[in-house]
Amino acid sequence: MHEKDSIFDQISSRGHERLCFHQDPETGLNAIIAIHSTALGNALGGTRRWYYESEADAVYDVLRLSKGMTYKAAISGLPMGGAKSVIMMPHRDKERTEEEARAMGRFVDTFNGAYIAAEDVGVDTQFIDWMALETKHVMGGETVCLGGDPSPWTALGVFHGMRACLLHAGRGEDFAGKTVAIQGVGHVGQSLCKLLSEAGATIVVADINKKNVDFVVDAYGCKTVHDDDILKVECDILAPCALGGVIDGNMVNHLRCPILCGAANNILDDPVEDAVALKTAGIVYGTDFVVNAGGLIHLAGMHLGMSDDVLQTKNDEIFNTTVQILERSERASSTYAAAVEIAEQRIAGGRETEVHAG
Ligand code: NAD
Repeated sequence: MHEKDSIFDQISSRGHERLCFHQDPETGLNAIIAIHSTALGNALGGTRRWYYESEADAVYDVLRLSKGMTYKAAISGLPMGGAKSVIMMPHRDKERTEEEARAMGRFVDTFNGAYIAAEDVGVDTQFIDWMALETKHVMGGETVCLGGDPSPWTALGVFHGMRACLLHAGRGEDFAGKTVAIQGVGHVGQSLCKLLSEAGATIVVADINKKNVDFVVDAYGCKTVHDDDILKVECDILAPCALGGVIDGNMVNHLRCPILCGAANNILDDPVEDAVALKTAGIVYGTDFVVNAGGLIHLAGMHLGMSDDVLQTKNDEIFNTTVQILERSERASSTYAAAVEIAEQRIAGGRETEVHAG
């Protein structure tokens, strides 16, 4: 368990609007939806399907992830709030089923659009399409609802973020001759390998799923290390693309990279303190919720009716946004602090508009 505080203390300390639990007796689904903020609009955020050791771990995860979505939407200039959901798997190997997905879809539907679900770890386009049989408030399917797999867009945004970090670190924008170490080569990691190999980078990967490692070795010529060693590989960019909480204050001392920039949500265990430690260590940090916003921009943008051209432009803007935040971080305690400051100003602006309109 990560938090000793009561659930209400956790909600109030992070500023959540709602935390809702649901059990479906027929399928045994246990799920949680957390809406952090709707100050800027309805909230789009993925559904994570994962085995948690305890309910407390699931609550901790959904609260942190949903707050990150609020920041992600705000920093990306989207008129959307932040939310996320988790499905607590009863055991690690439980296969996904249509009944389970449809039960989750009915839970999502009870929010009447204040929460719009999409993919996250453990959920694929088929699962989304099954959910969409029960609710229209879901994005990222291929047949029943729109959007498709957002991972390639997320990877493209991370790639733009990496370019911005390289420039800021005075290493040029060119990936040729650079080494990028990637932890986790699932949906996003594989797309990132493709972009990096096309750009001429040397790629080192690790994943607990051997099939995924074999795929990127064959397809993109990636080198491999054991998953216990990937975070300590000597490289130009370290890209955590698996789960969150992988870098803490102690791990910062073991990093052998000038840049940390990856797709995983909540890369830093304690983002406030660990981002300061990174700055002190001279490591450029491409803030996770800034650089991994490509998938959200794609699905939220489609939901809002943006054209393909606008979607592409908004994804490309991740480069400029990252540059702007890195420059601002020179005067702030960390990159994370600089990014949060901009996001919170926009959210406060949204709340003021609400009050005036009301
Ligand atoms: P995924 O489930 O497809 O891939 C995750 C990969 O990480 C899997 O291959 C898994 O085996 C591997 N993994 C898990 N634990 C590991 C460990 N300890 N060491 C090495 N590998 C490990 O998920 P994804 O969609 O690629 O998302 C990856 C991360 O990016 C997640 O944190 C997710 O929240 C975040 N993210 C994803 C998107 C998106 O569009 N999919 C958008 C924003 C953020």
